[in-house]
Amino acid sequence: MTRVPVLLLNSGIAMLDYRVPPGVCAPAGTVVRVPIGPRQVVGVVWDHGLGDGDDGLDENKLRPVQVLADAPLIPPPLRRLIDWTSDYYVANPAAVLKMAIPVMDALLRDAEVPEYQLSAIEPARMTEGRLQAMAAIGDHSGTVRELMMRANVSEAVIRGMIKTGLLIVADPMPEHALPPPDPDFGAPQLSAEQQVVASELVAAVTARKFAPLVLHGVTGSGKTEAYFEAVAAALRAGRQVMILLPEIALTEPFVDRFVARFGVEPAVWHSDMRYAERRRTWRAIASGRTQVVMGARSALYLPFPALGLIVVDEAHEMSFKQQDGVTYHARDVAVMRARMEDCPVILASATPALETRVQVAKGHYRQLELPSRFGGATMPDIAAIDLLQDPPVRGTWLAPTLVRAMEETLGRGEQVLLFLNRRGYAPLTLCRHCGHRCQCPNCSAWMVEHRRTHRLLCHHCGHVEMVPQHCPECGEVDQLVACGPGVERIAEEAERLFPDAKVVQATSDTLSSPAKAQAFVHRMESGEIDIVVGTQLITKGYHFPELTLVGVVDADLGLQGGDLRAAERSFQQIAQVAGRAGRGSKPGRVFVQTHDPQASVIRALVSGDEHRFYREETEMRRLAGAPPFGRFVAIIISSEEADEATAVAKSIARAAPHVPGMQVFGPAPAPLAKLRARYRHRLLVHAERSVPVQRVVREWLGRVRIPKGCRVGVDVDPYSFM
Ligand code: ADP
Ligand code: ZN
Repeated sequence: MTRVPVLLLNSGIAMLDYRVPPGVCAPAGTVVRVPIGPRQVVGVVWDHGLGDGDDGLDENKLRPVQVLADAPLIPPPLRRLIDWTSDYYVANPAAVLKMAIPVMDALLRDAEVPEYQLSAIEPARMTEGRLQAMAAIGDHSGTVRELMMRANVSEAVIRGMIKTGLLIVADPMPEHALPPPDPDFGAPQLSAEQQVVASELVAAVTARKFAPLVLHGVTGSGKTEAYFEAVAAALRAGRQVMILLPEIALTEPFVDRFVARFGVEPAVWHSDMRYAERRRTWRAIASGRTQVVMGARSALYLPFPALGLIVVDEAHEMSFKQQDGVTYHARDVAVMRARMEDCPVILASATPALETRVQVAKGHYRQLELPSRFGGATMPDIAAIDLLQDPPVRGTWLAPTLVRAMEETLGRGEQVLLFLNRRGYAPLTLCRHCGHRCQCPNCSAWMVEHRRTHRLLCHHCGHVEMVPQHCPECGEVDQLVACGPGVERIAEEAERLFPDAKVVQATSDTLSSPAKAQAFVHRMESGEIDIVVGTQLITKGYHFPELTLVGVVDADLGLQGGDLRAAERSFQQIAQVAGRAGRGSKPGRVFVQTHDPQASVIRALVSGDEHRFYREETEMRRLAGAPPFGRFVAIIISSEEADEATAVAKSIARAAPHVPGMQVFGPAPAPLAKLRARYRHRLLVHAERSVPVQRVVREWLGRVRIPKGCRVGVDVDPYSFM
């Protein structure tokens, strides 16, 4: 008889020992079904238990595993990645395994699991559970299990809805077997500079060894074209490729470029896909049938059996950091996966993160550079507008210099982009009469007015209200005023200034689906749009040759909050949006509106002295022992009861161990003291790199009793200090 540890999905238990019945073959990586009490749970036979040795259960008491014959093996490098992730990020291994098997029914054969969708019938009897389920299901279809998870209701609710005809069997997804990508389909003529870089990348792929490569090229230099050559090399070698993008909105333009280069669409992977598509894609990747996957960070844990290359595009993007659940950083995990797979990883960026630059300086990562734009296009000219010297007309937000530049640009028939990283009309709504500020009932945050949809919206929890006529506090009518600008308000101003121009907003509200993003791209390309007003969504990946003027409405915005990466984030964001200007044959101009033209970020942008900016930032981090020279770990305590959150935070602080080289700050109420109706407290651990801080934190928190309604989250290398 063989005893095996099994890592369980969906369970607080994580790991238990089971027995493999005689004659059954279940090596590590095998997906199995096992009993826990009266329940059946899916898990994966693991290489080792959690602690050392077995879980102490008597051999004879062990219950048997049942092998899921249709499921693929979870490959060894992915198992090692799951181990590493749960150790490094102090995460429950079951939660990490769940990222590798996000669609449980993918483990079974498609035919066995019918999908359901909402029918059009009006239900006679409506329960609270059903209402909630219907809202959550919306347009989605899925298996019973998937709909349960989506709607967060019991199986009985879903079964009841099927019985009463509220849910009907969905049309099966058409099977479309894509032909494999063709590495020779549309190979471009590379410039000499690109050729040098591309051949280095190709060499790394053919060497089949771990190699972290930084592809540092200015915006418009052809980074994508260069790494596509590496993708082609992997395809020729019969290996699989994972391309990570920071934003789903970027996938459409990217898919078009992929098709132009390789003749077919790549498989895509993100959280908003149809369940049937997710299942099918997951299986096709596991079987090796799908060669190239382009996706959001969740693609990192897909079960590729023959991965030969990982690309992280716009690798500096902070959205690669997962903020809840398992709080991993996709860029760092990508490097780790490449190490486990023994293959190269390419971090492509115009503004590599400070952490990445330090790795290059230490000689751990190799940097390849594309210092000039493709096709002779020049880098845009960046100038600061001092808002104190050159102020906008009262009640408006665009300075006269910027308005004049817009006039000239539009006069030449070219396009303008105004960048403001704030959705909605105004970030604050205030009563002129009593001073009341409209706040979210669930969060310590203001409600943001969205005039387009006549709503007040909380950007933290999604709470929605109609814009009130009366002040909710004093009852006065028509006294509520919008304070400060959002994208909608800037668009309104642009329309007022240029009544003949076509003004369009580009935010996650207006480009909420890949199809809408694509439609927007076509309207830009056809020249139908004159002025775009957009958030950071518009700063990346797009290539519009007629766009020659970029205006940054508020360059100081990103510096608020003052966390350790604020200046760097501003620099990257503004450099990125500036990179949208003048990508074709016409030169581009950029104006940056600021109250502090002497700030080091602004000076670096205007002078183009990126190296000096990063040198100074790096020195500051080194002196402070901040990442990457030291480590931070945030501990976030939250509860629906304010007192409970406070008490638990205090008892965690009291239990803090004394470790040389480690300091604990807090507890203190989080800057976002209330979020989704939960009160939040934070502790911040600061440790030298020599301290095994993950182990220390794990043991420390293991000693504190956490009441049931209280959640304790650990965020290693936090990017948010809210
Ligand atoms: P980056 O990712 O560095 O911003 P891109 O890869 O998007 O740059 O390239 C910018 C533009 O130049 C794109 O439209 C791309 O198709 C074009 N381009 C770059 N290199 C070549 C090449 N060798 N041949 C043809 N077009 C190219
Ligand atoms: Zn809220």
